[in-house]
Formats: sequence, structure tokens, C-alpha cells
Amino acid sequence: MDGQILEDHSEITSTLEGIVGSMGIITSTEDLQPYLIDQKKAYEGQAIAVVRPSSTEEVSKVVKLCAENQIPIVPQGGNTGLCGGATPDSSGRTIVLNLSRMNKIRDIDPLNYTITVDAGVILAEIQNAAEESDRLFPLSLGAEGSCQIGGNLSTNAGGTGVLRYGTTRELVLGLEFVLPDGRIWDGMKALRKDNTGYDLKHLFMGAEGTLGIVTGAVLKLFPKPKDVQTAFVAIRDSEAAIDLLARARQMSDDRLTAFEWMARQGLEFVFKNISDTREPLLENYREYILIELTSGHADSGLRETLETILGDAIEDGLVLDAVLAESRGQAQDFWRLRETIPEGQMIEGATIKHDISVPVSSVPKFLKNAEAAINQLLPGVRICAFGHLGDGNIHYNLTTPEAVGPKTFFDKVEDINRTIHDEAIALGGSISAEHGIGMSKRLELMHYKSANALDIMRGIKQALDPKSIMNPGKVL
Ligand SMILES: Cc1cc2nc3c(=O)[nH]c(=O)nc-3n(C[C@H](O)[C@H](O)[C@H](O)COP(=O)(O)OP(=O)(O)OC[C@H]3O[C@@H](n4cnc5c(N)ncnc54)[C@H](O)[C@@H]3O)c2cc1C
Repeated sequence: MDGQILEDHSEITSTLEGIVGSMGIITSTEDLQPYLIDQKKAYEGQAIAVVRPSSTEEVSKVVKLCAENQIPIVPQGGNTGLCGGATPDSSGRTIVLNLSRMNKIRDIDPLNYTITVDAGVILAEIQNAAEESDRLFPLSLGAEGSCQIGGNLSTNAGGTGVLRYGTTRELVLGLEFVLPDGRIWDGMKALRKDNTGYDLKHLFMGAEGTLGIVTGAVLKLFPKPKDVQTAFVAIRDSEAAIDLLARARQMSDDRLTAFEWMARQGLEFVFKNISDTREPLLENYREYILIELTSGHADSGLRETLETILGDAIEDGLVLDAVLAESRGQAQDFWRLRETIPEGQMIEGATIKHDISVPVSSVPKFLKNAEAAINQLLPGVRICAFGHLGDGNIHYNLTTPEAVGPKTFFDKVEDINRTIHDEAIALGGSISAEHGIGMSKRLELMHYKSANALDIMRGIKQALDPKSIMNPGKVL
């Protein structure tokens, strides 16, 4: 098969089928459809085939064949990404390389606190496997039932546990990767210390499929929480929220796991549009925090700690009201309010979304400046902001004003994006905290990244992927 040059699509697909078997290739127009459109239905493309290898060796052979024939490859995990990164373009020359058949948990070592997995394992399955071994894999996000760890690694996903455990890249000890010419880089070390030259795994994580294919990973595990305390809190304002966050970290000995902030507008959409949801507090407030503390000890005194944190904060006027969950079910109800905000917002009408971050202490200033700027640009816009305040990451989402139709709203999308991103950048922030760049933020990346940073990124891309076959049109 070395150096094989293929003449047409049917020769390409039959040669690919020879590598991955008939179960590993999809070519019919109807069956291809779900793989060619992104999660938000903002992008749709064409492809010669969806190829689903079942081993690293098969991935390597597929990539080598594509490199020899200059066939672009779009890597795809669970296709839950929010930036169009896993969708092919409209040329029809591409293959989508979907990792869903690489779904084995290779090993779990509770004493080394590690789990070794194929890239196509669904995130929730890794969480479950860890739990069965009395351990925790702390990456957690709304799409965990369908996103894959390879996608999480390639977007360096965030989610709700970052405050305590870090982003995905901080949860990785080893990585296996297929380079754009088909070579396999085996970096599957389960080591906590290894200073032997450049740390290549960090280059490949967050690359959104532009440098090759993640095929496996060694992930860190943590003690399983035995005591979980959750509260839904009405907060005076975002300054008070930052103060509460700092106090909660100090007073809980940094056992704070989640600190999620919500403006009232998002909850209004939830109560109106999502079934079986209700107000957790007696009165309405402008801003809320969902706070969670966890400990590996069943009897850790965490509830008393949380009561003290909130009691002091009420006395000092930071917290206006609060309810502590009495059961796991009630805690889940609180989480559901937070997690269904995007769904509730979508039902309400046209939305424009942002995923910015600023230093945690600058969040109040960002919120104030962004609100003033956006109200000037589009009076009456409904600001449905919420996010991982403990990470300085706000999803600054907007819903069209009630009197303004979607067309007028979307006509302003570039001005709106630039306005919000300018406010974040002015405070030393980022235009993409956790979702990545994909296709949707590519032009914004070009606008805000320094010339030197873009030069370095292009140099790395050229060195590893000189034929530019890996996920063209994404990120750079
Ligand atoms: C309801 C919902 C909630 C979400 N919440 C969060 C959140 O809290 N935090 C967050 O960070 N994100 C969140 N997301 C976004 C999304 O789930 C994450 O970006 C996730 O990491 C994508 O994983 P995936 O397997 O679906 O990847 P895909 O969407 O398939 O791909 C994403 C990118 O990674 C590349 N890629 C995928 N697999 C590989 C691989 N094996 N090798 C190389 N490249 C690959 C693709 O080419 C693409 O560029 C949410 C999405 C939804 C729908």
C-alpha cells in the first residue's frame, strides 16, 4: 500500500474500506448527513466518506493514505463542539475521521490514580469507570453523555470542575497521537514527573485536530467525593460574588469545587421554557451563585463550613438569601437550573453567544462595561449571561430584543461580537475561554492574536503538517 496514488472517489473509498472494514466506512448520502452538520446547525459541509477506524494502527494507515493523496481529514469525536471545528467544508474532497469505534478503556490503576483510554470513549463512561473504582474523573460538562475524551483533549474543554481540578490539559499524564503523515507518537506515560525535553502532549492538546489525531490518553484520577454540599445563593452583585468566592476558598481549605454565576434573565428563560423547574428561593433577585464544596471524607464537617461561609456573608450584606440542598436530588435540581439555561434561551428566540474569560477579579468590571456597551449598540437586548465565575469565564449570551426580528439582530452580529470581545481584551481577557476557535472564531483570532503568536502557530503547523491536510480552515 506504500505510496499508493488513488484516481477517484470510488478507488479512495474502496481502499479505505480495505483498511477499516465495511463497518468502518459510511458513504451513503443519507447516512453521512448527521456527521456533516455541527451541533448548533450553523455549519454544514460535504465529505467523500466518514471513516471510523477501530485501532490506532488503522488511524495511522488511513492518515498515511490521505497524506499521500492530499485528501484533507476532519477529525471528529462526539460532534458536540460549539465552534464548527468538526464539520467539513463544502468542497466534498474531505474525509471525516470519526473516533467513535475507538471506545475501549484500556486500563485503570486506582493506586496510581490513573485511567488509560482510547480517544473515542464517551466522557460519562470514563466518569463511571472511575467511580466503580472508588475514584473521580473530574471533567464534567453538559455534553458529557455524548462528547468523547479525544474531543475534550482537542478542545482543552473546561466545564464545571475547573476551579478545583483544572482544564482537560491539566488532567492528562500521557498521550498517543497520529501525526499528519501517519506516524504514531507514543507518549502514553503514566508519570507525574518527566522532564525529558519539550512536553509534546501539550502541543497536541487544544489543537482542534489541526496537528493530527489524538488516539489515546492516560488521565489523572482523584479521590471520590464522599461529602458533597451544594447551595443556591442570591448574591448582592458580582463584586459580592468575587468576595464570596475568595472567602469560600479560604474558609473551606480550598474544597470549593464549583462556583457558577447566573444573572436573573437566564433563570427567567428556564422557568418559562423548561418543564419541572421552579424558583429555589422565595423572592426574585438579580444575580445568583450555585456553590458546591466536596470532600473525600464522609464526615468532613463540610455542611457546617458552608453554613458558616454563607452565614458570615449574609451578615456582611454579600448574600441576600440562600438555600442548602437537603438531598442529592435537590442538589441536582439546582444544577438543572444552571445547565438548562442555554436550552431555555434557545427556545426564547435568536441568540448570539460568547465564551470570554478575564482575570477572576475583573469579572465585575467586564460585566458592567459590556452591559453599557451592548445596550448602546442594541437597546433592549436581553442579556442572558452566566458561567464559571470561579474561572473568570462568562458565557455572555444575548437574546434579540422582543421587538427586533432575527434578521436585524444577526445583521449586527459582527459589531456585537467585536464589542464584547473588545471589552474582554481590554481587561487582559480571552475571546474563547473553553470552546475553542474552530471556524466560528477564526477571524476574531486573526484580529486579536499578536503577529508573533500567529507566526509561531503557523510555523508549528507548517513543520508538522506541511501538506495542510489536517482540519483545513479551522483555527488558523
Ligand atoms: C450542552 C453542551 C454543553 C457544553 N458545555 C461545555 C462546557 O461546559 N465546557 C466546554 O469546554 N465545552 C462545552 N461544550 C462544548 C463541547 O462539548 C466540548 O467542546 C467537547 O470537548 C467537544 O467534544 P467532542 O467529542 O464532541 O468533539 P467534536 O465536537 O467532535 O470536535 C471538537 C474539535 O476537536 C477535534 N477533535 C475531536 N476528536 C479529535 C481527536 N480524537 N483527535 C484530534 N482532534 C479531534 C475536532 O476536529 C474539532 O475541531 C458543550 C456542548 C454542549 C452541546
